[in-house]
Amino acid sequence: MGVHTRGVIQLNKVLFGPAGYPSEARGNVKHVFQILTETGMTALEYAAVHGLKTKEDKARIIGELAKKSGISMSMHAAYYISLASKTLRTRESSKDRLVKALRFAPLMNVKRIVFHPGYLGGLSKEEAHVVIRDALRSVWETAGDQSGGAVLAPEIAGKLSAYGSIDQIIRLCQDVDGCIPTIDWAHLYARSQGEINDKENYLKVLTRFENDLGKLFVNNMHFHISGITFTEKGEVAHRPLGQDWGPDILPLVEIVRECGYKPTFISESTNPLQGALYAKFLFEELEIGSK
Ligand SMILES: [Zn+2]
Repeated sequence: MGVHTRGVIQLNKVLFGPAGYPSEARGNVKHVFQILTETGMTALEYAAVHGLKTKEDKARIIGELAKKSGISMSMHAAYYISLASKTLRTRESSKDRLVKALRFAPLMNVKRIVFHPGYLGGLSKEEAHVVIRDALRSVWETAGDQSGGAVLAPEIAGKLSAYGSIDQIIRLCQDVDGCIPTIDWAHLYARSQGEINDKENYLKVLTRFENDLGKLFVNNMHFHISGITFTEKGEVAHRPLGQDWGPDILPLVEIVRECGYKPTFISESTNPLQGALYAKFLFEELEIGSK
C-alpha cells in the first residue's frame, strides 16, 4: 500500500463547522470568525468552489483569524476540477488548481483540500482511475512539500456517473501520497438510493474505510453532512439537515460518540451554519445523556 502519513494532522476533538462563510457575515472576514466563535463552531470549510480568487495578503488575514479563533480550516476547491476530462487543457488546469490550493494552504492555515476528481470523461472506470491517480501524483510531487502539512481530500461523489465511489476513493488514497478521504454522507445516501441511512450501514462504511486505510483514515476523518434529494442517477439537490430529508445523521453521530472517533463535520446543508449547529446539538445531547 502506498499509504504514508507525512503531513497528516491528528485531531483529538470532534469538530463542527459550515461549508462557506455564514451568510450573516456578508463577506466580512472578521465577522465570519466572530460568528463562528460566538456560535461555538470549531471548523470552517473555505469555499473556493468557483476558483481560488483570494489574493495572498487576504489569504494571510484569513489564516491568522482562523488561528486566533481556534477554527480548524479546510478548503473546498473548484467544482469544475475534472482530472479525467476529455479535454487535455481541462485536465492540466484542474491539476494547476490543486497545486495552487496546496500552495495557498499554509497562508490560510488550511489542512485539507476537498475536491471532486470529476467525471469519467468517456473512459472506463479503470482508465479513469489511472488518469486521476497519475494526475494527483503529479500534483503532490509538484506542491506536496509546499502545503504546510495540508493534504488532498477527494470526496465521495453524489452522482453515479462521477468518479467517487467508496472503492474508488479508497483506492486513490492507497495509491497516492498526501490523500485522505472526504466522506460525504448525503452523497453516499444518494448513491445507495437511500440505503446508507442507519447504524448498520454507517458502520459498514466506516469499517471498510478503517480496514483499508487504517490510521490514515481514523486520524483524519473528514465528513460532509446535509439533507439531499436523489433519483436513480444519484444526487439532485442539497436540502436542510433534520427530520424532513434524508439521510438521518443521528445514528452516525451515535457511532462517532460510541467509537470515540474524532471527525470534522462540515455541514453543506442549505443553511450550512444551521446544519452544523444541528449536528453539534445532537452530539452534545448524546454526551449529556450518557452522563
Ligand atoms: Zn460534499
